[in-house]
Amino acid sequence: MRVRFATDRLCAASDLPNDSERVDVVVVGAGSAGACAALEAHRNGARVVVLEKQVAAGGTSARAAGQLYLGGGTALQRACGFEDPPEEMRKYMLRACGPGAPEDKIDLFTQESVAHYDWLVEQGVPFRASFVPTTEATNPPGPDGLTYTGNEPAYPWREEARPAPRGHNVECEGDSGHVLMKALLATVAREGIEVRTGVETTRLAVDAEGRIVGVGVRDDAGERFVRAERGVILCTGGFGFNREMLERYAPTFLECTPVGTAAEDGLGLRLGMAAGGDAIRMSAGSVMIPFSKPRSLVRGVLVNARGERYVNEDVYQATHGALALDRQDGIGFLILDADTYAEPQLPYPVCAESDSIEGLEAQLELPPGKLVETMQRWNEGAARGEDPLFRKAKEWITPLEKAPFRALDLRRQTFPYPFFTLGGLRTDLDGRVLTPEGEVITGLYAAGRVASGIPASGYNSGMSLSDCTFFGRRAGRAAAGSP
Ligand SMILES: Cc1cc2nc3c(=O)[nH]c(=O)nc-3n(C[C@H](O)[C@H](O)[C@H](O)COP(=O)(O)OP(=O)(O)OC[C@H]3O[C@@H](n4cnc5c(N)ncnc54)[C@H](O)[C@@H]3O)c2cc1C
Repeated sequence: MRVRFATDRLCAASDLPNDSERVDVVVVGAGSAGACAALEAHRNGARVVVLEKQVAAGGTSARAAGQLYLGGGTALQRACGFEDPPEEMRKYMLRACGPGAPEDKIDLFTQESVAHYDWLVEQGVPFRASFVPTTEATNPPGPDGLTYTGNEPAYPWREEARPAPRGHNVECEGDSGHVLMKALLATVAREGIEVRTGVETTRLAVDAEGRIVGVGVRDDAGERFVRAERGVILCTGGFGFNREMLERYAPTFLECTPVGTAAEDGLGLRLGMAAGGDAIRMSAGSVMIPFSKPRSLVRGVLVNARGERYVNEDVYQATHGALALDRQDGIGFLILDADTYAEPQLPYPVCAESDSIEGLEAQLELPPGKLVETMQRWNEGAARGEDPLFRKAKEWITPLEKAPFRALDLRRQTFPYPFFTLGGLRTDLDGRVLTPEGEVITGLYAAGRVASGIPASGYNSGMSLSDCTFFGRRAGRAAAGSP
């Protein structure tokens, strides 16, 4: 492949000073994908350096809740008494990660998920062998190891694949991404892999054949180059903090709140694109309405601007986010009665309160009679323990009849929905970055949220860290094995 030099993100290999530092593999970014890539590249015989632009390693991964989506019969699932054939996990993920779910990546991941869990444990990542039912799950999660983190028990998913809990929660009281990263980075340090912080990668060096042979970096001492004789692995996270890129690729998120670290500015992604890498599923993201904290709030009835239900309320928070944002214009009200009301942990205010549904309807300025009709229908079904319209799971069905009635305000304008991006560089199973024509860009790899991975356009908690760690490892091995 011949290279176009239409960008200052690239520089010619021939311009690299002869005395530039030389390593085999440069890993850009020290989050979960980068740490795993570095470990496997090093263990496969490469001289590795990790370049991290922030003053400390860890990235967004260190701020995560710390759940990894794993299954297919992991030691933790078995210890908690669950069977989970890889085929059931595969069926579920193909649906949950779509549309456009990457079948080849999901096949591989579901086959090797058990071994990946064991690998994480070997790196010192702690998991407690205990299961928490969704009815008791808290957020942030407690120290227990296993829970449901997606739509597995919800309709229609429960009918398409046998439900099993696959949320593997790193042990800690509260958010545990920092525990995950502490274990991975301690292993990186123990094995003598150098992680340089405060060093931003700003360019890729390309030779005449289009092969990526190094990086240009900037730090306090100025600009310089590092040659990478076997490959460069981009592990720089997503682009949620870059408004220009959101405007161009994912404008529905402009009125939402990016979560993570501001270092997720898309620069790594733009480096890969400048080198000819294809960027795919760029409008995809995980956008949440985390109203179900406490979980008992899913007993409420969720309505749109027309006062109509549009989904079973027990679906996962990112399913709620996607539906509300894409189909309901960011408008939603959760109707509760005196028995089901509980104070939400997140700032979703009560925006209407009345002794009658009619009163609530008027305060919310819904079309006359609509909410009354919706609630009548709900209460009729609920009296029989049924939700004929959307088939909410029985454990969450209860008539809402006792005044006062309240509406929680779930509108995007009240509490901009938190999101992170899922779109990114197109890669093969070994993290090689591909062009739009499907050609490999020799010497360039990507893993984690800079790439489009398993959660292509649908998300469940834990799928990002699993994707980062699993495909980060593969990219590290592949880069080390390059000539
Ligand atoms: C509050 C919160 C909770 C979450 N909980 C979960 C969860 O429980 N489970 C789950 O699966 N996902 C969770 N996520 C999402 C998940 O944390 C991220 O998607 C994931 O950590 C991304 O990992 P990464 O390795 O791709 O990027 P990061 O961990 O962000 O690492 C990227 C690193 O690259 C560095 N970098 C960027 N550009 C450059 C450059 N040009 N030069 C050098 N360095 C650079 C950054 O500084 C950063 O350190 C959560 C996210 C948030 C915000």
